[in-house]
Amino acid sequence: MDQQEVRTRFAPSPTGYLHIGGARTAIYDWLLAKQRGGKFLLRIEDTDRNRFVPDSLADITASLRWLGLDWDEGPEVGGEYGPYFQSERLEIYHRYAEQLINEGKAYYCYCSAERLQELRQSQQQVGYDRHCRELSAEERQQLEQSGCKKVIRFKTPLSGKTVVKDGIRDEMSFDNSTLEDLVLIKSDGFPTYHFANVVDDHLMQVTHVLRGEEWIASTPVHVLLYQAFGWEPPQFVHLSIFLSPDGKGKLSKRHGATSAKEYREQGYLPEALFNFLLLLGWNPGTDQEIFSKEEAIASFSLERVNASPVRFSTDKLNWLNGVYIRKLTPVELANRCLPFLQKQGLLPEPCPADRFDYLVSLMPLVQERLKLLTEIGDWVDFFLKEEIETPGVELLIPKKMDQALTLKVLESVYTALEKVDDSFNEQELEAALHHLPEQLEIKAGQLFMPLRVAITGKTATPGIYETMHALGKGRVLKRVQAAIGRLREE
Ligand code: GLU
Repeated sequence: MDQQEVRTRFAPSPTGYLHIGGARTAIYDWLLAKQRGGKFLLRIEDTDRNRFVPDSLADITASLRWLGLDWDEGPEVGGEYGPYFQSERLEIYHRYAEQLINEGKAYYCYCSAERLQELRQSQQQVGYDRHCRELSAEERQQLEQSGCKKVIRFKTPLSGKTVVKDGIRDEMSFDNSTLEDLVLIKSDGFPTYHFANVVDDHLMQVTHVLRGEEWIASTPVHVLLYQAFGWEPPQFVHLSIFLSPDGKGKLSKRHGATSAKEYREQGYLPEALFNFLLLLGWNPGTDQEIFSKEEAIASFSLERVNASPVRFSTDKLNWLNGVYIRKLTPVELANRCLPFLQKQGLLPEPCPADRFDYLVSLMPLVQERLKLLTEIGDWVDFFLKEEIETPGVELLIPKKMDQALTLKVLESVYTALEKVDDSFNEQELEAALHHLPEQLEIKAGQLFMPLRVAITGKTATPGIYETMHALGKGRVLKRVQAAIGRLREE
């Protein structure tokens, strides 16, 4: 028998930005499809018009692309099972709902919102009391004629059990008597999530449904719907929730960013977030922690996906980000940093080629130190600015030194640097300053700290010789001169 093509889908609702939990689901979907030579689908579940957030769709597609998760079928790319927006498939859902009605597996319900509200408040009944399930033909006709609103509900079997099979969990069995007669089509003509989801997963020939464990409670009704249609359910895989970094409770906004967009804006690389989310719920069974996309495709397996809740470790994500920053070439890193620098106004938009080349030349100086792309401005602003604000004396005068000594140091440095030729190369700079501390009877740090502050305005910078070389003789002398002036004013 031919092996069935693996078809996975990510089915977000455009009700907010792409959540990192959703991003992990999409990563696993994508990996499974790539690995098995199958297809990864993107389907937009936009049937809940009250919760629609207009810019969320653009964010979801942009964030998926940012993470490198291209879809084989879906919005923008099309495909033979479309449309991939549920709001464009209403006619299909109606057809299938009517089929269930005709087969006696679903029914029209005319109960008013007020009645349902009362029912909820009376607490006597969990969920809907099936009032309209056994209406007589006359009753129904009367209600139809009165023109009141109606929905279509599923006739859930009243007895028996429904078994849910899950690729990473033990079989789960639900008593049908505990399940509600779910609404399939709402009074506005839109399907509910449950109905559209089942119909579409079937019609789009989805083989694996990966989704968050919060959907487990809905799955028995989905299984019953598959049975009602005589369809084969897909393989369900309910992924675990994320726990907060301290392991106490669910990860929430309180603990920091929860959307892919926020991570992008905070300066994380997509490779790092991808690698991090890959390991958040899956383990390779080895010590390997760094996975390129190709390695992830080759190693991923559902068998190693863990159903227990997993702790979200920001430290690990930060570490991974540093690892991926160091893997980039200077040109790649400069390209990643550029938008952050432009946002801070440190480079123009568009960036002229010579300015970009200069930025590239700075990358080896900061690559080891940079943890987040958002930090780049702090590391390179004094390189990108022609002039810096001359630091105040409190910053210029190091601890255990005074104004007179600091002044003397910078004057000596100035004299020594003036003699270095214009190329200002690192060896010559080192040769020029190397003996100075000894001559001045001070420690090396006492020389380099005021010099560092004078030319950069900061106490932590890349190496002093590389920094001076990258700044160039003109700017270094000017800044040292300005610092001397500041000290003399004292
Ligand atoms: N639209 C649902 C969501 O936003 C999809 C859940 C599923 O994958 O079945 O989570």
